[in-house]
Amino acid sequence: TRDGPEALDQAGFADGLSGFVAEACARAVWLRRAITERRFRMAFQPIVGLADRMPHHWEALLRPEPDAAAPVSGVQEFITFAETAGLSEELDWAVLAAVCAAARTARGSRIAANLSGLTLQSPDFREKLLALLDAEPLLSHRLLVEITETAEIENEAEAVRTVEALRERGLPLCIDDFGAGAAAFRYLRAFRVDYVKIDGLYVTAAGRSAQDRGIVAGMVELARTVGARVVAERIETEAEARLMQELGVDYGQGWLFGRPGPLPGSG
Ligand code: C2E
Ligand code: MG
Ligand code: MG
Ligand code: MG
Repeated sequence: TRDGPEALDQAGFADGLSGFVAEACARAVWLRRAITERRFRMAFQPIVGLADRMPHHWEALLRPEPDAAAPVSGVQEFITFAETAGLSEELDWAVLAAVCAAARTARGSRIAANLSGLTLQSPDFREKLLALLDAEPLLSHRLLVEITETAEIENEAEAVRTVEALRERGLPLCIDDFGAGAAAFRYLRAFRVDYVKIDGLYVTAAGRSAQDRGIVAGMVELARTVGARVVAERIETEAEARLMQELGVDYGQGWLFGRPGPLPGSG
């Protein structure tokens, strides 16, 4: 029999737990449908040369279809919950398919796809991706892969195999959100990196303090040491663009140059 405060606590805890589990399940079901039914589109944002201000390549950003009943809000939550629900590989494959479709029509410039760290470690995903690239070699000249530095990469050996296989096919890698996580140095050692994308937090901070400018300069030097080119993200003002260029950054991305939107020439 249930009586006394202790039993009540247990009942309350069980109710809370089952409510939490039910919510997570409902979210996973919704996410799976959103992914398999492709209820999203991609928005494209230019990465421009800081010297010539011309688009160098584009980053594809996920834009879930608006849905009043969505149990997630915003892109970041969509991705985080997909990861916790074990759906990140499916999501990344669906995103990649959409990016490839855009890449086939994009004239000349590469399109960057964001991949989850979990995906990068999956031998299954690697096989599928390499089969796709081998069947359609043009894609190796049209794609670029961004891996966020905040990704948890446990099986580094598998991730390295994927990165090396991609590079063998001429597909460049960018370490995204550089400086925002704790793995920056490890990734520079583990992967052969083509681009280092300095996290927007440093771009904003550099306008305000000499110490932060020093940190950006140091990141640029570090990137040079491993032969990588440097991108600065979240550039919103002309002053930030000039400062980044003075500090040796090659490319910029941000609202100053263009918001995420349709790919030009794609209708
Ligand atoms: P990220 O890869 O670092 O993408 C840059 C984010 O900064 C984007 O947010 C973009 O809209 C935003 N942004 C661009 N310019 C500016 C600016 O000048 N000012 C400000 N304040 N923000 C700017 P978004 O689209 O919300 O994406 C957030 C994060 O979600 C991305 O960060 C990326 O880590 C992840 N993500 C987005 N799309 C995908 C995807 O298709 N697959 C995966 N796995 N992750 C994705
Ligand atoms: Mg990115
Ligand atoms: Mg970024
Ligand atoms: Mg970022």
